[in-house]
Amino acid sequence: MDNSEFEKEEPDLKMGMTGMDRRSFISLAMTAGVGATVGACGVASAGSNAKGKIVIVGGGAAGLTMAALLMRRLDDADITLIDPADRQYYQPGFTLVASGVYEQDEVWRSQESCIPDGVKWIKNEVKLVDPENKTISLANGESVNYDFLVLTPGLQINWGLVEGVSKETLGAGNAHSIYDFEGAQGTWKALQEFAVTGGRGIFTDTYTKHKCGGAPKKICLLTEDYTRKQESRDKVTLDYYTAASELYDIPYFTPRLEEIYSERNIPIFKKVRLKGIDTSAKKAYFEKHEAMGEEKLVTSFEESYDFMHFTPPMSAPDFVRESGLSWSEGKLAAEGWVMTDPETLVHQRYRNIVCLGDCAGIPTSKTSAAVRKQVPVAAANLASLMEGNEPVAKYNGYAACPIITEYGKVLMCEFDYNKEPQITFPFTMLDMSREQSAAWMLKVHVLKPMYFYGMINGYML
Ligand SMILES: Cc1cc2nc3c(=O)[nH]c(=O)nc-3n(C[C@H](O)[C@H](O)[C@H](O)COP(=O)(O)OP(=O)(O)OC[C@H]3O[C@@H](n4cnc5c(N)ncnc54)[C@H](O)[C@@H]3O)c2cc1C
Repeated sequence: MDNSEFEKEEPDLKMGMTGMDRRSFISLAMTAGVGATVGACGVASAGSNAKGKIVIVGGGAAGLTMAALLMRRLDDADITLIDPADRQYYQPGFTLVASGVYEQDEVWRSQESCIPDGVKWIKNEVKLVDPENKTISLANGESVNYDFLVLTPGLQINWGLVEGVSKETLGAGNAHSIYDFEGAQGTWKALQEFAVTGGRGIFTDTYTKHKCGGAPKKICLLTEDYTRKQESRDKVTLDYYTAASELYDIPYFTPRLEEIYSERNIPIFKKVRLKGIDTSAKKAYFEKHEAMGEEKLVTSFEESYDFMHFTPPMSAPDFVRESGLSWSEGKLAAEGWVMTDPETLVHQRYRNIVCLGDCAGIPTSKTSAAVRKQVPVAAANLASLMEGNEPVAKYNGYAACPIITEYGKVLMCEFDYNKEPQITFPFTMLDMSREQSAAWMLKVHVLKPMYFYGMINGYML
């Protein structure tokens, strides 16, 4: 990426601090008591001599953290992890790549370096699970048996459900998405150009459940702030289209977030779905969905744009549904999310399967912050099941979404299944219903090293 044209005017987007290596992170974490305040894990210390072959499908945030914790918790762990990826991405960093705060190489490690010692890695893709026969079919035609399955393949991004767009052509017609590593890099380049040229910016979320519901809002607010920093805000108009009936559905945080959009002169259009993009004409096609009594009214319209950020529809990976592991009825069935007990994280039909992370069909936000709190519960319950006991550990739906409202400030949204605030943020004297600079420091400087050095090694859970 050649940013030379923009380098001279670039403000300090990191807000004064440089990247942190492992040693500095650990000393900062110890000084600040981060391990204690963001939650320490008691499960890790309890040993278990449970027996059985565990297979983990998907070695992302959830799969790796489970592998690391189980290796420590079980005396004779027999763990196989299946994942075709070469790289482990810290996806929450994509927003910061897309806004020039992180360099692209700061957000990934080789997958090999992240797999815990003692875990057998099959570098392949799962095509089908046969839960009756406890067998997994791989893309290379081989099969793998298991006694206990940890289902953590994340989610599938369905680019094709936005007409006119594909993963391969992402960025064409200046329509970008940070839900992709290359897409995040393209967004940053385009955002800088947009701040020079000016014009109309359109931002959308999507009608399916999607990972980090805050991400589309963050990139919108960062774009606005970046144009202010470049003194070109008056050349830019910005509009935010949400498929939902409100901007954010956690009442403790919503009023301030809506107020910020209003203060920053970004109109919010609700109940609007992106249907397609004509990238050659730079036109976005929308549908407004309204209820008129029993009737559903759908009105189509189109909008021209100069710069666009969109969120693609998402679902559970196809193999999950094809394996009969998804909900078959209810709100979570349409997108194939796994039939998971919301408290124990054990599969509702197959009690030798636990499921967590983005693919789990549970009514909370799909974030790695949620994964961090799910892992100790899923690991404890898996060990109990392996010992022939009932799964008694319970997850309360905790999730967190640090909504970056501008360079230097974050609205740190933490909540549970009841949509009640669950503030674990260390500086409790602050009003956490408002954006805070201290939360920016946590988001930009602490959470990434905490992920790579702590969480996926089974610590700081
Ligand atoms: C732009 C963006 C911003 C985000 N911001 C935040 C944030 O601020 N805070 C936050 O907490 N979270 C954030 N998230 C969400 C967070 O990254 C995810 O919720 C988290 O990574 C989910 O973990 P997971 O293990 O379920 O899935 P992933 O981490 O995506 O891992 C899934 C793994 O499964 C593997 N896999 C997939 N299919 C198969 C298969 N068929 N066979 C074998 N392996 C397979 C993949 O290769 C991958 O390694 C953000 C995500 C994005 C994209």
